Amino acid sequence: MEDSNDFLRLILDSIAESIAVIDELGDIRFVNHSWSQFGSDNECAAAQDWSQVNYLSVCDGAALAGDEFGALAGAGIKSVIDQTEAYFNLEYPCHSDNEQRWFIMRVSPFSLNKEHFFVISHQDVTERKLAEKAVEKLARRDGLTNIYNRRAFDEILNEQWLQCLSVKQPISLAVIDLDHFKLLNDTYGHQTGDDCLIAVSALLKNFARRTGDVCARYGGEEFAVIWSYTTLLEAQSLSQALLEEIRQLRIPNERSPIVPYMTASIGLVEMTPNRILETRDLIAQADDLLYQAKESGRNKVSSLIVIPSTAIQGQN
Ligand code: GH3
Ligand code: MG
Ligand code: MG
Repeated sequence: MEDSNDFLRLILDSIAESIAVIDELGDIRFVNHSWSQFGSDNECAAAQDWSQVNYLSVCDGAALAGDEFGALAGAGIKSVIDQTEAYFNLEYPCHSDNEQRWFIMRVSPFSLNKEHFFVISHQDVTERKLAEKAVEKLARRDGLTNIYNRRAFDEILNEQWLQCLSVKQPISLAVIDLDHFKLLNDTYGHQTGDDCLIAVSALLKNFARRTGDVCARYGGEEFAVIWSYTTLLEAQSLSQALLEEIRQLRIPNERSPIVPYMTASIGLVEMTPNRILETRDLIAQADDLLYQAKESGRNKVSSLIVIPSTAIQGQN
């Protein structure tokens, strides 16, 4: 029984993967039940009327219609047919109107009676892909405040830097550090401190609403905001407004020598990216300015525009 065609066909039809076999010209010579089913569920002619279909033409048609994965699939299948590659795998998105889906296409060859055939299989990997995306998203978020963490911040700053470089626009970076936060923790407890960090993060989000704006927890009680396409003048007024909103929270910090509630200091810098400057210059400058704001009394913004070979400094 194990040698019978029916037995083997039933095995192939019971497999969840969609499987087709094509010949050297790309003509479909066999499909399993999942392949036909996918065709009828998705109104896909390549799977429904499969016996009339050349699969390479289907890929070429998709490529011509602008589907980059159609082009990649076609090229990959051809590379196995002409023996440039032994196998070919391609992960691709295939989203429908109401659902996101991803598949892996695998191509592997076999020969029978001197004829060459190629097994094309499509496996639904949506579950794994969604899990990967969820992990990726989590890895970019700070666990306490749920805003971007340092890792995501570094990546996004690089992207925004390149954007501003390409359109020759300024980028402003604010590094925000809560004043005498250790005293606040020591006075009211770590849990209260955590709640403050959450409250400040919620405020920060309101200051990073435009395209190219990003806020992040930089570490500990330190935050950062990137304002792309933004001059120092605009960034100064945003920074002042942010400090005021932090003060307006009126979170008690009764042992602070400044005022008996929570305040913050900001180091703010504007640069117009060029081939000489790097993101690390932007961060280093903002850190220096934060240090100056702390040294000169806290609860203030220290700012600077870096223009190649000159610098204009301000404090307010
Ligand atoms: P300064 O004005 O010079 O910035 O003084 P500071 O006390 O804010 O700075 P310092 O670096 O001395 O202390 C930072 C404090 O922030 C100490 C640390 O326990 C607290 N901190 C860092 N991360 C967290 C956190 O996740 N939760 C809480 N509750 N506190 C934190
Ligand atoms: Mg601090
Ligand atoms: Mg700090």
